[in-house]
Amino acid sequence: MKVIRSANRKTNVAPAANFTGTVFSDEVVVGTLPSRMRGSVVSFTPGARTAWHSHPVGQTLFCLSGAGRVQREGEQVQEIRAGDTVVIPPDVRHWHGSAPGKLFSHLAMSELNDKGEGTAWFEHVSDADYNATPAPVT
Ligand code: MN
Repeated sequence: MKVIRSANRKTNVAPAANFTGTVFSDEVVVGTLPSRMRGSVVSFTPGARTAWHSHPVGQTLFCLSGAGRVQREGEQVQEIRAGDTVVIPPDVRHWHGSAPGKLFSHLAMSELNDKGEGTAWFEHVSDADYNATPAPVT
């Protein structure tokens, strides 16, 4: 058993190639085979979001604080808030990030596939897509 101390790990700044705006990432776990589990707490400043991307084994997001947005390509943007869980199927193009004008953080959980492949990154999310009116929360 291992305890990884927070004090021994710095917060990373997410790369501009794959994110718009300022995004911070705190690694939680990178599993050792046979585990392929990966977890990070990702904190989005207002207006910040991922680029369009997909995950080979899908992804689960657990919203920790603030107000966020998530969109599956071809569907309306969804509002997400602290306590919400988002389940994203494998190989589905999507993005996630803060709501306009709000901080947002989530725990992002995913796995590599059996070839060791992780996230596939595509183009940045346009301001028009980002600022679209979200679907009513049901
Ligand atoms: Mn994702």
